Parts: sequence; C-alpha cells; structure tokens
Amino acid sequence: MERESPGARAEPFDVAIVGGGVSGTALLYALVRYTNLRRIVLIEKHEECGQVNSRSNNNSQTLHVGDIETNYSIEKVREVKAGASMVVEYAMRLPVEENKRILFPMQKMVFAVGEREVEFLSKRFSALKEIFPNVRKLDRGEIEKVEPNIIRGRAQHENVLALVNHGHAVDYGMLARSLAARAKDEARERTEIILGAAVKNIRRAEDHVWELDIIRRDGASPHSIRARAVVFDADAYSLLFAKRLRYGHEFSLIPVAGTFFFSRELLRGKVYTVQDPRLPFAAVHGDPDVRVPDATRWGPTARFVPVLEARNWASMLDYFRVSGLAKPKTWLSFIIILLDPLRAWYLIRNIFYEIPLLGKYYFARQVRKIVPTARGRDFTRARGFGGMRLQRVNTNTHELLLGEGKIIGERIIFNMTPSPGASVCLYNAMRDCNIVTQFFGSEFSFDKKKMEAELCEGRSVPLEDPSQKSSYVS
Ligand SMILES: Cc1cc2nc3c(=O)[nH]c(=O)nc-3n(C[C@H](O)[C@H](O)[C@H](O)COP(=O)(O)OP(=O)(O)OC[C@H]3O[C@@H](n4cnc5c(N)ncnc54)[C@H](O)[C@@H]3O)c2cc1C
Repeated sequence: MERESPGARAEPFDVAIVGGGVSGTALLYALVRYTNLRRIVLIEKHEECGQVNSRSNNNSQTLHVGDIETNYSIEKVREVKAGASMVVEYAMRLPVEENKRILFPMQKMVFAVGEREVEFLSKRFSALKEIFPNVRKLDRGEIEKVEPNIIRGRAQHENVLALVNHGHAVDYGMLARSLAARAKDEARERTEIILGAAVKNIRRAEDHVWELDIIRRDGASPHSIRARAVVFDADAYSLLFAKRLRYGHEFSLIPVAGTFFFSRELLRGKVYTVQDPRLPFAAVHGDPDVRVPDATRWGPTARFVPVLEARNWASMLDYFRVSGLAKPKTWLSFIIILLDPLRAWYLIRNIFYEIPLLGKYYFARQVRKIVPTARGRDFTRARGFGGMRLQRVNTNTHELLLGEGKIIGERIIFNMTPSPGASVCLYNAMRDCNIVTQFFGSEFSFDKKKMEAELCEGRSVPLEDPSQKSSYVS
C-alpha cells in the first residue's frame, strides 16, 4: 500500500474509516465496490492491516456460522449463518492461491458430555439439521472414528454425543489485507489507504465536515485530513473516540484478555463443548492453528487485564481514560456483574491458568472434558498469542452487553466488535454501507442487491442488527 499525505488536498474525503482490521477493511471494500461514494480513505496505525485482534495469532480463527455455538438461539443461527457465509463467498471469488491463504476448510464439532448436555444437543440437532443439511449426529463409536482422542481413556459409563459439520477456519489478518488490496484494485482513484498513521484527535471542522489529526509512526510531521463522514472500526478504541465527542457516556468496558495454550496435535478439527448459557464467554475449545502445523491450540482463557490492546501496555492509560472508573456507577456495575457467583468463579479459575509452571496443570483439567488423557505436561503457553475481548457494560442499567456494539451519531459511526465481529465483518460492512449512504440523502446510493448477488447467493439479507439482541461466543 502506498503511504500518502492527503492532508494537502483541499476537497474532503466522503468517508474516512479509522482502523484497518477486518472490520475496517471489509467496510472499505464494500463502500468501494457497492456504493458510488467518490473518495474513501482508511487510516491504520500499524504498517500493515489486520495486526491487532484480526491477526491470526490473536483470535480462534473460527468462522462462527452457528452450528457449534450452542448459546445462539435457532433464530440467531439463521441470521449469523447468512452474515458469516459472506466471508466464504468473498473468498470463493478470489484466485485460488489467495483463497488458500485466507480460508481453511475444516471439520467442526460440538461435543456433549453427560445426560443433560446430551439431551440438549440431541434436541438442538433436529432444528439445526434444517439450517445445515450436512450436520451429522455422532454416537460414541462414530465420534471415536472422527476424533479418537475424545473417546480414548473416557469412562464407559459417560454418556456422550457430538454434532459435526464441514466448516472453515479463517486467517482474518490475511482476509483484512486481501480486502484492502481488492478495494484498491477496484478503484485506485477513489481509494486511499494510509498505513503507519494513528488518528489522535477528531473535531468538527465546519458543518458536515470532520477533521482528523494524524500522527505518523515514522516521525513525519503530523497532519490533518477532512472527511464528510467517519466510521471508527478501531474495536475498543472506537469507544474512546466516541466519548471524546460526547457519545456513549453510559458505556464502560470490562477488559478480558483471551490467551491460549498449545499441545501436540490432539484433534483433527475444531472441537467446542456445550456452552453454559450463564457465562459470557465460550468454554475452552481446541482448534488446529492454520499457521502452526501439527499442533492444537487450546483456549481462549479469560483474564481481567486493564488494557485496550493485548501486549500493548501503553494502551493501559487509554483503558482508564475510556472505562469511566472515576464514576461510582461504573464501580457499582462492575461489582454487580462480577459478583455473580458463576462469573466470579469463572474469572478466578482463569487466574489459576496464569500461575507460572503450575497453571498448565490446572488448565489440563479443563481440557480433559474434551481429551480425557490430557496432562499438564502436554501444554505450553502460546506466547505472543491472544487478544482482548472488551465487553461493554451499560453503567445506567448495570448490564453486561455481549456481542457487538454500534453508536451512530451525526455522520459518524463507532463500531465495537468483539467476537464474532470477524465472522460477520462483511455483514457489518453491508449495514454500514446502508447507514453511510443514508447520511448523504440522495447524493449517493448503496447497491445492496449487487452485494447480495455476489456475497449472499442472491438472498435478501435483513439489515437489522442481530448481534445486539443476544449473546455470542468466541
Ligand atoms: C481471544 C479471541 C478469540 C476470538 N476468536 C474469534 C473467532 O474465532 N471468530 C471470530 O469471528 N471472532 C473472534 N474473535 C473476535 C475477532 O478477533 C474480532 O471481532 C475482530 O478481529 C475485530 O476486528 P476489528 O477490525 O473490528 O478490530 P481489530 O482487528 O482489532 O482492528 C482494529 C484496528 O484499528 C486500529 N486502530 C486503533 N486505533 C487506531 C487509531 N487511533 N488510528 C488508526 N488505527 C487505529 C488498530 O491498529 C487495528 O488494526 C476473537 C477475539 C479474541 C480476543
């Protein structure tokens, strides 16, 4: 990507996107390909797109379509499937070599242990079968053929059941870079991508024009760019900028770091377990890592770490700026949410995993629900892996808000995108194309039908936001 200094150009951009993760790049691609906006700019503080939560090291690489996520309602499964399938459709349109770097066909399983879970999964199967015709129900003997380590060493009396389906793992970092490159290819003269440049401040320049101050990583002198509409796709940082502009003051963030362990290859595909609906995060699951051959990646764990970006301690200050911890109602919300005995125990248990040398033995106890023969010595901490899951809290209602969040202001959008933001990045982009073009009245239009024809097999996709109605797992 080129590195330009567009500040000198007097004409404002139509849209500026802040953040070059999978969300920002999906929006850039969609705006360039499916709207007639004239000039769009994306600003990313790293030298490459997809380096923070979208990076393959930092998430579980699952394309969440709803088949193995047992905490989605069936209605939700239908919606998520349509949204997430857009990633597959996008990748299928790419040249084979590029497709292979992004999309990894993979077996996916959800595994139930014990009477209660088996009964639950059995009932769910009938409903899922209508949505996923290829999903199969496996008994103990069949599971052993598909994933032998799940059955090896398991007590005979333990009742088990699994659903398996064909699915995909995704390198979301690669996807981000592909989307950015394809947007640029689509229309060079309409698309600018500024890398290695952080947006430091935003203000109203004049009626209907925003001004963004930008600082380059290479030390080049700061400059400003102007845009008629702005979309923040900077994950947790979106809320920081929203608050500076007096939006979203009721929100705080609970900062949960998700880290991982590696073992030798114990699983052939992804294995999730039946989710406890009372917990905000997925239970530990096992995944082949698309970038680390012959290994299984286990996690993510959930640890309270007050930063906005994993392994970026400078972002701690920003966490305290955005969290609103100076307000008593924020503390009250945290106490109410975290004193729920189940959640509190869950977080405490996750602290044990971090104990040097001993943590992996404790972690192995959780993994034994999936692989009964797993031992502490089988695991090594996945250093340099893991990301931040900043869960929004409404400090007025003291509620923990799961899934994605969006604040819409006057010609400005702030997106907060915890899991499964990566899976539904193109679906979110579709919704934002609609909102952004509406900002401009009849001046610009969004060709939703073309996007549906190319990425949704021609089906009409509703633009309402399913993620804000109920919870997701990662
Ligand atoms: C442990 C874990 C496991 C997960 N597993 C899955 C999974 O299996 N499947 C799934 O779908 N999702 C998963 N997720 C969620 C997924 O990673 C996110 O939904 C997704 O990556 C969000 O993409 P994004 O582009 O919004 O954010 P990011 O990828 O974090 O991108 C935000 C970008 O904004 C840039 N930025 C921030 N501030 C500025 C600024 N001031 N100026 C310029 N640029 C800025 C950053 O540098 C970054 O590149 C997981 C997340 C975690 C933490």
